[in-house]
Amino acid sequence: MSNTIVPAKKNLSKGSSSENKTSMKGLVYNGPGKIEYKEIPRPEVKKPTDAIVKIIKTTICGTDLGILHGKTPSVKPGTTLGHEGVGIIEEVGTGVRNFKKGDRVIISCITACGSCEYCKKQMYGHCKDGGWILGNLINGTQAEYVRIPHADNSLYIAPEDVDDEALVMLSDILPTGHEMGVINGCVKPGDTIAIVGAGPIGMSALLTAQFYSPAKIYMIDLDDNRLELAKKWGATDTINSGLEDAAKMILSETADGVDVAIEAVGAPATFNICQQIVRPGGHIANIGVHGKSVDLQIQDLWIQNITITMGLVNTNTTPMLLKTVTSGKIQAEQLITHHFKLDEIIRAYEVFGNAAEEKALKIILTN
Ligand SMILES: [Zn+2]
Ligand SMILES: [Zn+2]
Repeated sequence: MSNTIVPAKKNLSKGSSSENKTSMKGLVYNGPGKIEYKEIPRPEVKKPTDAIVKIIKTTICGTDLGILHGKTPSVKPGTTLGHEGVGIIEEVGTGVRNFKKGDRVIISCITACGSCEYCKKQMYGHCKDGGWILGNLINGTQAEYVRIPHADNSLYIAPEDVDDEALVMLSDILPTGHEMGVINGCVKPGDTIAIVGAGPIGMSALLTAQFYSPAKIYMIDLDDNRLELAKKWGATDTINSGLEDAAKMILSETADGVDVAIEAVGAPATFNICQQIVRPGGHIANIGVHGKSVDLQIQDLWIQNITITMGLVNTNTTPMLLKTVTSGKIQAEQLITHHFKLDEIIRAYEVFGNAAEEKALKIILTN
């Protein structure tokens, strides 16, 4: 009898991958200011509910720049960044019921188990075994392959006739702009609204706010190029807050200010504009990721019956938004300004980091 016991290898996966490669390329965060595109281990199915997705298209988010600037200490050095993308399923665990190898899928920036207390409230962003973990607590999508936990609740089948690049906008920016900006802000027909920040998230709020027919949409930014695009995409008024006092202007042009002020930057100055322009009974919907405190003017606001909301995207409206993108009601691909190959990602980060000069909104990386 042999005394060497070889443990039986747990076979968690349905159908093994075609090639037996164990490494791949990915964009690794090495601490504030440091990223590197390098050879890293290829992800494997770890739990029966996992799927391995081969990335077709991914992108860089403002949140990734925030990580690079040290705004997000939860991201540890050695993590592959990225939480958006479209890909093809390479392999699924034995517990995955809704997807199979070869399916083309949209990756949600939010991982959801589907059964915890928060998931049952559709607050998937706070899933007890998920939430925003991709490119944060676990390796993300800026790589050739990514492991998606709880695949059944965290992926969406990509409609055949819709372009991959447009679908990438559903991973994060469209649901975030819609849910944390428009829905939290309770945008209603006839409202006057202001969106502070005309980046990809502010633009997503602009596009999705129009589902609810606001009468007037102010778009505020420092970048004239972005303001011009905003006008093309439905803003009725634009203000360059570097050249003009946005709050003063809005207060002089409206009755008491705006019904909804959407903060889509994540900075004290932009939050401040919102609290100056909200009218009694109005809403401030903060979407921005803040790295420091803001000066809440509660001595002026307490009497005004306003609501301030903030939070992480739930992604509960992603299926609805997918229909609007599929039907062409929202032309998500217009948010894309630049294209790179995945192995040019360092250059892509430079371009996105210089968005104003480069006239960049969303950048697509193709694997
Ligand atoms: Zn993002
Ligand atoms: Zn959950």
